[in-house]
Amino acid sequence: MIVVLKVGATEAQQKHVIAKVKELGFKPHPIVGAERTVIACIGDDRDKAQLQTLGSLSYVDSVMPILKPYKLASKETTKERTVVKVGNVAIGGSQFVVMAGPCSVESRAQIIKSAEIVKAAGAQILRGGAFKPRSSPYSFQGLEEEGLRLLAAARERTGLPFVTEVVTPSDVAMVADYADMLQIGARNMQNFALLKEVGRVRKPILLKRGMSSTLKELLMSAEYVMSQGNYDVVLCERGIRTFEEYTRNTCDISAIPALKELSHLPVILDPSHATGLRSLVIPVAKAGVAVGAHGLIVEMHPKPEEAVSDGAQSLTPPQFDKMMSEIKKYLVIEGKHL
Ligand code: PEP
Ligand code: MN
Repeated sequence: MIVVLKVGATEAQQKHVIAKVKELGFKPHPIVGAERTVIACIGDDRDKAQLQTLGSLSYVDSVMPILKPYKLASKETTKERTVVKVGNVAIGGSQFVVMAGPCSVESRAQIIKSAEIVKAAGAQILRGGAFKPRSSPYSFQGLEEEGLRLLAAARERTGLPFVTEVVTPSDVAMVADYADMLQIGARNMQNFALLKEVGRVRKPILLKRGMSSTLKELLMSAEYVMSQGNYDVVLCERGIRTFEEYTRNTCDISAIPALKELSHLPVILDPSHATGLRSLVIPVAKAGVAVGAHGLIVEMHPKPEEAVSDGAQSLTPPQFDKMMSEIKKYLVIEGKHL
């Protein structure tokens, strides 16, 4: 159920409703919008009739059921679009946010050079994996904490905040100490222990769609994070498994407007993993802008032929420059800017 407060309800009135919701045995999740505050009440549906009594309070506008199973992530709960801050960068507003960098952090020189290149081209967030979820146990697994230190050094040098993946619940606190945003990768989208753990930190989460997950499952995973009190979740379409073999995955481009219809959370596109081929990254990135994505996450490597992971889908520095200047034209049409 959601309790919608009247415009102008005071903080004391808000606190009173929260206390009442707790008294009735529900967990209150206050969502403070620009205009009004909504208190989402999560608990046993069988007791929801009791919440209706709050409707008699003079500063409560309405008490309504939330029909979708992803209560906090749903548009039903929050009509206004959520803006998620990563460092000083706001995702979900009129600024289009590009996160870029190598698949894996490989060395100090490689990550600092990558950060300088993507920053000069206009990207606002650095990406780089320190913990890599690889399909083979014999493939490079990442530099781990040393990789996080190198990402922090690149941030120090360029001022770019960074996003990096966390793969194990017990590493969450440590990764959150270094990173500006934590990525949950496709392979971990339904690792519920990991989702709960990142829900307990106060760092924004980039949640990638599992390669065989439905949009509803993606939103239920966002709900896992939000149910723990972390509402700063950005959704990411990164391609799904189909029978097609030419591309690494099949980019489900309609997932972007669909997720925007279903949820208030920002939605970005990863054209690198969605295609697996560097030649397709720029056209698919443009499609992302055209369908209303709030940003992109793109792999760029100073020397893709030497990359330890995902070289074939990593843009070269000149190609990254080209992508940035080409998407600018599409952003004008969409009324957005970098
Ligand atoms: C990555 O971002 O390098 C990555 C492993 O992505 P995904 O989880 O989407 O495969
Ligand atoms: Mn990768």
